[in-house]
Amino acid sequence: MTTRIRTHNLGFPRMGANRELKRALESTWAGKTAETELLAVARRLRAEHWRLQQAAGIDWIPSNDFSLYDQMLDACRLVGAIPERFRALGTGLEAYFAMARGEPSGSIRAMEMTKWFDTNYHYLVPELEKGQEFHLASTKPFDEFAEALALGIRTVPVLIGPLTFLQLAKTSGAKFNRFGLMARLVPVYAEALRRLREAGAEWVQLDEPAFALDLDAAALAAARDAYAALRTAAPGLRILLATYFGGLGDNLSAVCRLPVDALHVDAVRAPAELDRWLAELPSTMALSLGVVDGRNVWKNDYDASLDLLRRAQAALGSERLLVSPSCSLLHVPHGLDREVRLDAEIKSWLAFAREKLAEVAELARLMGPQGDAEALSRNRTVAARRRRHPQVRVAAVRNRLAAVAADDLRRKNPYAVRWARQQARLRLPSLPTTTIGSFPQTADVRAARARFRKGETTAADYERFREAETAACVRWQEEIGLDVLVHGEFERTDMVEYFGEQLAGFVFTENGWVQSYGSRCVKPPIIFGDVARPRPMTVRWSTYAQSLTLKPMKAMLTGPITILQWSFVRNDQPRRDTAWQIALALRDEVRDLEAAGLPIVQIDEPALREGLPLRRADWRAYLDWAGQAFRLASSGVRDDTQIHTHMCYCEFDDVMDDIAALDADVISIEASRSGMELLKTFATFRYPNGVGPGVWDIHSPRVPPMGEMLGLLCAAQAVIPRDQLWVNPDCGLKTRQWKEVEPALRNLVEAARAARN
Ligand code: GLN
Ligand code: ZN
Repeated sequence: MTTRIRTHNLGFPRMGANRELKRALESTWAGKTAETELLAVARRLRAEHWRLQQAAGIDWIPSNDFSLYDQMLDACRLVGAIPERFRALGTGLEAYFAMARGEPSGSIRAMEMTKWFDTNYHYLVPELEKGQEFHLASTKPFDEFAEALALGIRTVPVLIGPLTFLQLAKTSGAKFNRFGLMARLVPVYAEALRRLREAGAEWVQLDEPAFALDLDAAALAAARDAYAALRTAAPGLRILLATYFGGLGDNLSAVCRLPVDALHVDAVRAPAELDRWLAELPSTMALSLGVVDGRNVWKNDYDASLDLLRRAQAALGSERLLVSPSCSLLHVPHGLDREVRLDAEIKSWLAFAREKLAEVAELARLMGPQGDAEALSRNRTVAARRRRHPQVRVAAVRNRLAAVAADDLRRKNPYAVRWARQQARLRLPSLPTTTIGSFPQTADVRAARARFRKGETTAADYERFREAETAACVRWQEEIGLDVLVHGEFERTDMVEYFGEQLAGFVFTENGWVQSYGSRCVKPPIIFGDVARPRPMTVRWSTYAQSLTLKPMKAMLTGPITILQWSFVRNDQPRRDTAWQIALALRDEVRDLEAAGLPIVQIDEPALREGLPLRRADWRAYLDWAGQAFRLASSGVRDDTQIHTHMCYCEFDDVMDDIAALDADVISIEASRSGMELLKTFATFRYPNGVGPGVWDIHSPRVPPMGEMLGLLCAAQAVIPRDQLWVNPDCGLKTRQWKEVEPALRNLVEAARAARN
């Protein structure tokens, strides 16, 4: 008799359907909610999420996937990897939140935060030192397992695996081999597994997404030792090793030889690896096949998933096969039920976390002896409707994309020629000063927007308000003597949303929140169709701002890669095609700005680097099409139109050639936070065009004195030729207050003047 294959979920979004956790956290931090109330909210959410997974028909339901802040921070706590500076704060929530956010008085710096693989989720980076000791320092996994068990649900507790923990940590102090710490770390994991077994766990899920990365021999050897030791740690407790975010590639054989009882693989990112998984999986191991995309919002293609599942079933039998999402559902919104304004047709193409659980269960049913002909045909009908939707494939957009020629991807003349023409037009002093675009989004600005959205003010009133803000901002920039002005971006909320709302092919949800870090959530737009620009998007505000001044005004656009990276992207064509469609729309915008008399256009690409694939071998292809997308957007202009770009995050060393190849006339780049660490790069890499390494770290409320910025400028002049050097903050000023911006920018202008002499 064939049994139904089992269903497995790796993790569920934590925030709650109405972001209850966010509210409780923020109100606790503000001192308005007691810690016990926060913990009660968290407990209610966990119970609710376990129950809904059970009701959806999930057999293996995770626990300890919940976190009050971040799962890596929880892992640090579990193994007692608490950096020295927090130890005086004790072991309670106060210390926990201090690690995440810094000690409230500002005297203890928070742990560093960085992106979790290629997601937009940020984790706290473990800090390890030479001779690091570990000990079991938290009972969270045991407590949450017991909590679920009390509700009658025997969960699969989830822990970050020891390899991933060490691989993602940063080492401080004297240089040492991080994997040398494995022998000390493993006993703590062993103890945790024993405790879970004692509590009644039958399976534990160890998350090892690190296997989707390029690993060296030391990492693989450490993993082998770790799992050999863990195998015997807790007799009776079986280990599920979860990999995701990519195929296993050259790590595949090593992974399949680990002595674990089940392996989870990401069959959305690496369906082509199926045959190798099936061939190399030992007969003692079960396979959880992640066929439902945990990274995107589209309904599953059942035919494609069933094909993979059936091939796996033929090789393994039903007993050894599980069906699952490709990774934790942390990276998709909670559920679709609250989307009432979304276009009904497009909504029918989507699946958020709750709907994805239903898909996993439905796929298991479809694999069973009875099948479910109706569910399958429903799924096919929706897929066919999506394919044929007139906005999904727009002939004009496709023809234009197909006609892109090499000449569209480069400026007509080299930088030196352009520079001379731009200089003749702009007449900028040496070391020109500018900003990155946004000025403070004050409470007034936000309140005016809210009033307009609620229908409390007329469009005309709101327009006048924004004009007044823009005019005041332009006047002030003139007054303090900045050389290249901006309009301030008061009409924008978010740098991607603002463009998505004006482009065809995008939809927005009301409640499609995804955790970014801690209590912070983002609501990415969904790119569902071919992208086109029905009408100019920014020309009105940029020309208005230019009309107020004789100084050059710099128009502001968000680049194609950043729009792509910060959206849910359609899965029915390569990302490159979507990026190029966006680029073509932006190209038209750039040209319209030029025609309207704007002498400078900045195209922000803060997300260019974060789009890099996890594997080095895939970098080249990405950097090629991504760079071409930028050039497609930016190259349609005359020589005397100056193109700027802006990037944040400091590690650019390994992609400097590609950034230079964008051929922007000027790049402004984050630098001040790392004490101009970036300048080391410029010392060895001769950047060909204009460059403004940020001299003011806008991420901090601190106002840098003029002498400090002058010092940075002098340091910059040692490695960047003076006639290429620009003077600017390191990012937009949106999150700052005027009381910081005013003195800081005055100091910046002073510093530039002093440096000129
Ligand atoms: N022009 C944008 C701003 O100033 C750039 C934002 C960013 O780099 N993230 O806000
Ligand atoms: Zn920035």
